[in-house]
Amino acid sequence: MKKIELLAPAGNLEKAKIAILYGADAVYVGGKQFSLRSRASNFSLEEITELVQFANAHNSHVHVTVNMLPHESDFKGLKDYLLKLDQAGVHAIIVASPAIMSLAKSLNVSYEVHVSTQHSSTNSSAVQFWKEQGMDRVVLARECQLHEIEAICQKNILPIEVFIHGGMCISYSGRCVLSNHMTLRDANRGGCAQSCRWKYHVMDQDKEISDRNQLFSMSSKDLQAVDYIEQFIKMGVASLKIEGRMKSAYYLATVVSSYRTLIDSIYEFGYAKDQIIQKVKNEIAKAENRPTGPGFYQGIPDQNVQLYREHDETVTQEYVAIVIDFDGEWVTLQVKNHFICNQNLEIFGPHISSTQIQLEVVYDLDGNVLDICNKPMQLIKTRWDGPVEVNAMIRKIR
Ligand code: SF4
Repeated sequence: MKKIELLAPAGNLEKAKIAILYGADAVYVGGKQFSLRSRASNFSLEEITELVQFANAHNSHVHVTVNMLPHESDFKGLKDYLLKLDQAGVHAIIVASPAIMSLAKSLNVSYEVHVSTQHSSTNSSAVQFWKEQGMDRVVLARECQLHEIEAICQKNILPIEVFIHGGMCISYSGRCVLSNHMTLRDANRGGCAQSCRWKYHVMDQDKEISDRNQLFSMSSKDLQAVDYIEQFIKMGVASLKIEGRMKSAYYLATVVSSYRTLIDSIYEFGYAKDQIIQKVKNEIAKAENRPTGPGFYQGIPDQNVQLYREHDETVTQEYVAIVIDFDGEWVTLQVKNHFICNQNLEIFGPHISSTQIQLEVVYDLDGNVLDICNKPMQLIKTRWDGPVEVNAMIRKIR
């Protein structure tokens, strides 16, 4: 049986490499043209080429989003771009527009063409339709329920990709024009201002009916599908997708390594052990800053899966440094956020599960002893008893 793919987002080269090192089987990135998420620091063709080489060396794949819904003026350079992606060696493109799908297929490119979730595919007839158009995979709508995904997979028409983690739209994904209306930023061309998450005064004519002390908002809890991974594997889903090209490298490392642990354990034991599920949820919570829920997987979301009021968005643990070198005794760290050198810290890495550490002594590169590290990007030297590896991350335990 082919192992299910863990597919991670990446907003830049550093994040993409971190996602791969922490266990992603594939990453999806946006190019500088023809992609949604226009505010993410998208990839140039040179960066995509470098990423493909890195991914190939780590047995991973690169998918490139070409998922804008183009207007007549948006096609200039598209054919050339699709050919250059083929030369770069990408493994798939993710497309929403039928025009881009048919153009890519007419060019006889060697990469796969995946139907974006922007197409709101919610049933097997839609998947059959995309197969007849020559598509290679369908990313289902986030609005599908578990039993619907199972029914689609049972038909075995095309490989199916589903979302397992990250932001959800309060509206129907790919169909919302709230941002367009409020800000003239087009959600379907990558400009969503997340207007659903703003705070609103709700008025009935001239009378305010919202609570002035707690204004109305209408975002959805983020999706967290740890409880359903075993089911997805047994249904025959091809790929599990994490949302969030704007998220930090720390968030990606935490979430990707957590799902990696869970997926590998399910293949090892044949089922998802309760203690591993709990451990994975605890790990993910260390990087989350928003409440999470099951999305549509258990049924149409009710008020328990929505956020209509203000809520706390502080993370429980904070990323403070990354290991950039280790000579067998001394560790070189790059500081990311302020920390006090003798406080409780935890390390986790591509091959290290979360372990508490105590730094013995911390020096700057001139040999001065430091009590506090408060200069982001500063390089420091230290050592501790316990596991260490390059690219491991250190976080504060609150
Ligand atoms: S405004 Fe909210 S619901 Fe609409 S597209 Fe943006 S995130 Fe989704």
